[in-house]
Amino acid sequence: MYDAIVIGAGPAGLTAGIYLARGGAKTLIIEKESIGGQIASSPLVENYPGYKSISGSELTDMFYDQVVNLGVDIEIGEVKSIEDRKIKKVFVDDNVYETKTIIIATGVKHRKLNLDGEDGFIGSGIHFCATCDGTFYKNKDVAVVGGANSAVINSIYLSSLCNKVYLIYRGKDLQCEEKLKEKVLNLQNVEILLNSNVIKYLGVDKLEKIVVKDKICEKEIKVDGLFLSIGMDPETSIKLNLNKTDNNYYDSVDTLTNLPGIFVAGDCRNKEVRQVTTAVSDGTVAAVNALNYLKN
Ligand SMILES: Cc1cc2nc3c(=O)[nH]c(=O)nc-3n(C[C@H](O)[C@H](O)[C@H](O)COP(=O)(O)OP(=O)(O)OC[C@H]3O[C@@H](n4cnc5c(N)ncnc54)[C@H](O)[C@@H]3O)c2cc1C
Repeated sequence: MYDAIVIGAGPAGLTAGIYLARGGAKTLIIEKESIGGQIASSPLVENYPGYKSISGSELTDMFYDQVVNLGVDIEIGEVKSIEDRKIKKVFVDDNVYETKTIIIATGVKHRKLNLDGEDGFIGSGIHFCATCDGTFYKNKDVAVVGGANSAVINSIYLSSLCNKVYLIYRGKDLQCEEKLKEKVLNLQNVEILLNSNVIKYLGVDKLEKIVVKDKICEKEIKVDGLFLSIGMDPETSIKLNLNKTDNNYYDSVDTLTNLPGIFVAGDCRNKEVRQVTTAVSDGTVAAVNALNYLKN
């Protein structure tokens, strides 16, 4: 039996693990994919205090080492449901874990365009993470869809590897930080297509072309790969009667939910700013709340 189970090993969950372990709680973190969550896929983090510039994977490695050195258990598996009693049950694939308190830090998941054939091309031409999969497209032509920070960061990164990068955005101007905009506008091999939407994927076993529509016409563009950076939806599908907002984020006040002993932290909860700094802040607050709950 655990004192605390944390669901999700992104910055929020790993921080919660650090505070819980240091507070003396026997803690398990359960992660369904890879340690570090979203930030592990970021080539460059330049707004986390203490580091002028660091890759997301380096930052993740340091979070992870700290958690493991404190004796926190980590399991890989997807939490499907939770039974909310005094002793809570967490159902993970074929296993059930018991715990006195739970912190849900499940983050957000990538949004798709929902075009015909999209799911079949994921991994065969369509990707979400430029740092993870960009090297497949060395010296090739790729497209990035989106216009905010992550799309522009991905385009800048891919421009150093690929022959050509099309940055395709439906809006009339990029929505990223000014510094990023300046950088991407100066890259010779990045072509920015504004007021444009990808409306069709073409290819047999893998993506070969996309059809892009702007205000005037539709055209086919040959691309070897395409990276979707069009935002995120909350990962809040675990079966449990937690209150949610209209747009499906966990509803909470300072990480407290409608269920005593169950806390939420990080990008999966209702809040204005979703960054590593706010995720680690939530992880801290949720862990302190969980430790207080354990005392009663
Ligand atoms: C490309 C990119 C670049 C970014 N760059 C920056 C940056 O430079 N600076 C910055 O501050 N922020 C940046 N961000 C945002 C930042 O990464 C997030 O705000 C932060 O990771 C949120 O942390 P989190 O722990 O709440 O969630 P996440 O990082 O989303 O982690 C949640 C984890 O929970 C796991 N999970 C979900 N459901 C389950 C389940 N049912 N069972 C088990 N595990 C589950 C997921 O697999 C995931 O690993 C970037 C994001 C992206 C995508």
